[in-house]
Amino acid sequence: MSIPIDLQSTYQLYIGGQWRDASDGGTLTTYNPATGDKLADIAQATQEDVEAAVAAGRAAFPTWSKTTAQERSQILLDIADILEENQELLATVETLDNGKPIRETSTVDIPASIDHFRYFAGVLRADEGTATMVDGSMLSVVLHEPLGVVGQIVPWNFPFLMGAWKLAPAIAAGDCIVFKPSSTTSLSILEFARLVGDKLPAGVLNVITGSGSKSGEYLKNADVDKLAFTGSTEVGRDIALAAAKKIIPATLELGGKSANAFFDDCDRDLAIEGVQLGILFNQGQVCCAGSRIFVQDTFYDEFMELVTKAFTKVKVGDPLDPTTQMGAQINEGQLKKILSYVEIGESEGAKIAVGGHRATEGDLGKGAFLEPTLLVDVDNKMRVAQEEIFGPVGVVIKFHDEADLIEKANDSVYGLGGGVFTQDLGRALRVANGIHTGRVWVNTYNQIPAGAPFGGYKESGIGRETYKSILNAYQQVKNIMINLGTEPAGLYPQD
Ligand code: NAD
Repeated sequence: MSIPIDLQSTYQLYIGGQWRDASDGGTLTTYNPATGDKLADIAQATQEDVEAAVAAGRAAFPTWSKTTAQERSQILLDIADILEENQELLATVETLDNGKPIRETSTVDIPASIDHFRYFAGVLRADEGTATMVDGSMLSVVLHEPLGVVGQIVPWNFPFLMGAWKLAPAIAAGDCIVFKPSSTTSLSILEFARLVGDKLPAGVLNVITGSGSKSGEYLKNADVDKLAFTGSTEVGRDIALAAAKKIIPATLELGGKSANAFFDDCDRDLAIEGVQLGILFNQGQVCCAGSRIFVQDTFYDEFMELVTKAFTKVKVGDPLDPTTQMGAQINEGQLKKILSYVEIGESEGAKIAVGGHRATEGDLGKGAFLEPTLLVDVDNKMRVAQEEIFGPVGVVIKFHDEADLIEKANDSVYGLGGGVFTQDLGRALRVANGIHTGRVWVNTYNQIPAGAPFGGYKESGIGRETYKSILNAYQQVKNIMINLGTEPAGLYPQD
């Protein structure tokens, strides 16, 4: 597999508008999960580097925070245009670094990210304070102000898109940013900084790379005014504690174990695509993956026949091949973790209906490839039905009626996504209302456009992204109370 673009062999940190090595020269290596080949070395940011990035943000903030909404909106539009001109490069980098198929990076990850910058360019122009006469003589004016320097940390499953979800509203709000991608997948955001860094004043965007346990820890404990995190619930809890200690806000987009439900009256074509969108998109490495597949008992046999056939036909292969439908898992470690869950499921009494193994055909043995997998005879109490597997492994669970489905779907510590497939609109809405999650898709799955709020109930997080309300999560609210009267209130009379 030859690499179709020129990657740098080494990527530095982007701090205060300059590229520089880590202060101790430390680096990490990033690999192509489809081949195991080395892609590049990236810097491992030290505490000194993280502090320098925060200081660069602090230095830039007084001027940047005073820019007008028009100016920042135009910058977001300019960034979107540059990204659009470089779509192919970015999609290829993302595919190489993450292992996800090029047909996804070129039609979802990168275009959706570009649209995010355009969306927040618009949201920003429509962002307004308020003025209210609270009584006859008191005028309350509410203004939105930028927060300051924000720390943003994202995971490896959608490195660029999760970046766009955080960067666009923070830039819109007028904040300065210290951004940390996952050490496994830093290249697309580093390319982003190379492409658009000079569209922003020096210090507004700082990108520090490195492992979570070092560079991430330094950022978590740095002198920032907000922490925005996407990743596992385990690390998210630590981020929330760090924010609480500093009394700063934190927004958290965390894990999930979402229910994707199929009633016997569903449209068969939509349903079969919906199962696959739910658990095979991005190799199942999706926080809101439809990983618990609930099927009405009256539809079960037909459903299994149809989905087993569909899963067997999925093309697992070279992520750069535009016909590939499923690429590589992120790395060997994750692949082993996923396969261990298949074993756990079997030991709990589940059976493999399809897949369940590494894909090794041709050159696939060199990379971290898995077969699309379904486990059946699963009970919702089993570990495979309760824990996030984060791979292309769906567990199929029978349900009887709406009430049974809602009860089982809600029996989870998570509450991020969910799906319901039926042609009965009333039933779809009853189920959607009954499931305690932030997003429910009806007759589709894993659609994530800008302009619709995305985020979790329960242990899946706090806050909503991809929607205008996240702009406010990057702002302070200033209230100015103006007395329009000419007489003192009379509480301290002078005679
Ligand atoms: P992770 O929690 O291990 O890492 C996420 C990020 O945090 C990475 O950049 C990592 O370097 C950093 N990090 C790790 N330890 C840290 C620490 N102690 N201090 C500071 N930073 C630290 O998650 P992951 O394995 O990269 O991603 C998979 C997880 O992300 C899954 O649980 C998935 O559900 C979740 N996720 C959620 C959403 C959402 O929107 N809710 C979206 C994508 C992924």
